[in-house]
Amino acid sequence: MDGEFVPWRETKVHLLTHALHYGSAVFEGERSYDGNVFESLRHTQRLHKSAQILDFDIPFSVEQIEDAKAEALAKSGLESAYVRPIAWRGSEMMGVSAQSNTIHLAIAVWSWGDYFQDKMKGIKMTHAKWRRPDPATAPCEAKAAGLYMICTMSKHAAEKEGYADALMLDWRGQVAEATGANIFFIRDGAIHTPTPDCFLNGITRQTAIKLAKSRQIEVVERAIFPDELGTFSECFITGTAAEITPVAEIGDVKYTPGEITGNLVDDYDKLVRGKLTL
Ligand code: PMP
Repeated sequence: MDGEFVPWRETKVHLLTHALHYGSAVFEGERSYDGNVFESLRHTQRLHKSAQILDFDIPFSVEQIEDAKAEALAKSGLESAYVRPIAWRGSEMMGVSAQSNTIHLAIAVWSWGDYFQDKMKGIKMTHAKWRRPDPATAPCEAKAAGLYMICTMSKHAAEKEGYADALMLDWRGQVAEATGANIFFIRDGAIHTPTPDCFLNGITRQTAIKLAKSRQIEVVERAIFPDELGTFSECFITGTAAEITPVAEIGDVKYTPGEITGNLVDDYDKLVRGKLTL
């Protein structure tokens, strides 16, 4: 935390932290497999980029953050872990303006298994009430804390009804993503996925596309409308926490996780453990 190792229970921030009041934080979600963070550098670069989009500079370089992550992981003694770097505006000024606030950086490391229970059975999703905002309304390329407000509301509403997650549309009514993962569909042996023009183009999403292409599977990035959901045979979501998770239903549409999804789940598992190269 801010360059020092701090015991887990002693990590403190001030009540008037700007990020707590105004959502001025950016973060990453990363996974380490057998001691190696998958796509570590790309995550750190995205953290820096997210901060720039929110108009602040993280006072630690990409290299320093890379070193700190490795050190935190080594100190944790965990081989497989979730890694959460976060940068935020501190507490010097309390108002919308935060010109003089110190920028903080912390990296937390903990053990986190599957994001969904029984993930290989395929998760059940419902439709979210909230939509991903227009890029003219919110900085959708940043992994920014404030953007997760609608994700948590959508995920809670879904969980209350017994679903694992929710499908969010974008402001135009096109299919966008899940509350913390990107989405893919399969029809006639080809993969279809929404163009990431108002949501995070996930690192796992980009990896899944590469894995599919290396299996000679056609990948179509395009606008997908909700009335098409019933025309697909398989569906899966991707994210660092979710990895590649099959989807069994969205609302009243059912999917049967099949060979393409299964192969990509296996390929991803091998890739992150260095048993497959792209
Ligand atoms: N969309 C949202 C809203 C997310 O929170 C995440 C997880 N970071 C993703 C997509 C997937 O991103 P990645 O594959 O880089 O983890």
